Amino acid sequence: MNILVINCGSSSLKFQLINTDSEEVIAKGLCERIGIDGSRIVYSPAGGEKQIKESDMPTHTEAIKLVINALTNSQTGVVKSLDEIGAIGHRLVHGGEKFAFSTIINDEVIKAVEECNELAPLHNPANLIGVAACRELMPNTPQVGVFDTAFHQTMPEEAYLYGLPYEYYEKYKIRRYGFHGTSHSYVSERAAKLMQVPYEASKIIVCHLGNGASVTAVKNGKSIDTSMGLTPLEGLVMGTRSGDLDPAIIEFIAQKENKTLAEVLQILNKKSGVLGLSGGFTSDFRDLEEASAAGKQNAIRTINVFAYRVAKYIGAYTAAMNGVDGICFTAGVGENSHTVRTKVCEYLGYLGVTIDEEKNAVRGEEIIISTPDSKTKVMVIPTNEELAIAREALALVNANR
Ligand code: ADP
Repeated sequence: MNILVINCGSSSLKFQLINTDSEEVIAKGLCERIGIDGSRIVYSPAGGEKQIKESDMPTHTEAIKLVINALTNSQTGVVKSLDEIGAIGHRLVHGGEKFAFSTIINDEVIKAVEECNELAPLHNPANLIGVAACRELMPNTPQVGVFDTAFHQTMPEEAYLYGLPYEYYEKYKIRRYGFHGTSHSYVSERAAKLMQVPYEASKIIVCHLGNGASVTAVKNGKSIDTSMGLTPLEGLVMGTRSGDLDPAIIEFIAQKENKTLAEVLQILNKKSGVLGLSGGFTSDFRDLEEASAAGKQNAIRTINVFAYRVAKYIGAYTAAMNGVDGICFTAGVGENSHTVRTKVCEYLGYLGVTIDEEKNAVRGEEIIISTPDSKTKVMVIPTNEELAIAREALALVNANR
């Protein structure tokens, strides 16, 4: 079956058409600047040339229309008609406590997801606009929602409750939800395979280090703790997000800088993390690594803080699981930055970790980068959220036939 995977943001829409028999990507691309001047679609059919076309996209519906046209176009398309697309898999960010699994999307599901909007005001409404546009243009094609939060619904109470008045959990559902669940699930399962241990009896820590970053403890195939919280602001130092801090800092900054609460939160989300620590230099690890190699102190300290925080979470999750079999690095930074991996692993002597630097330099493939005698295995596993979404969609469509 061909499954169209859609990841819809407020002004962008990423798509991949995946053949679930071969698990190959038949075509992929993205629509940028939806609702803004200068919108364009980038389309890459497998084995063909990448095309970039400027085109008006006042709403997501026009964007989806352009995606459909590109996929079915007689010259550069990859399918003859929409009938060759068996289902659409949507990345949905927040499913609250309502969704512990992926689901076929219907009116009731849309309503339940809308009720989670206040937990992810930037993401969920945008995701749902994509769902609405697809339902309008492909009304007979099953749509499946795959939630970033779902995998973490197995966390025990002691991991998801904050030290706040319990009534806030009861009244407002303030708790840890966690994100990147599709990636943590996919990567941890691949890690168990790579280590040749049964997933149902394994202790794995996944470090998803991209622009947004989170660490998850996966015990016996289930998430038991994760570093992101009610929102994706908690946990690691990220591209532009602060991660963990003393909550009293918020008022302190507001007073010192004469800013509102909303302005301070904007700073914590957009101007902090790697960007902030480097003194506004960059949020991108490629620039940081180059500057650090050239001896620039702002880059060196930023990488040090970033790696230290990752190592601290690995320590915490090793304790939470009473041990760890394997530690995985994934996403943009985790897959590409051997400097970050090396720095994190320097803290892991107590786990008997030793790294094979030759293997650590390999890119773009699943690989164990620790030495054969390393007591704990360390791996790089490229994440593939789109494939994971396509697999979920296929399973649900088959189960509902
Ligand atoms: P997201 O999906 O959260 O936007 P990604 O997982 O794509 O993020 O990661 C993006 C980040 O990965 C970039 O900001 C950059 O810091 C880092 N990155 C990408 N390629 C490299 C590379 N070759 N070396 C080091 N870091 C890289």
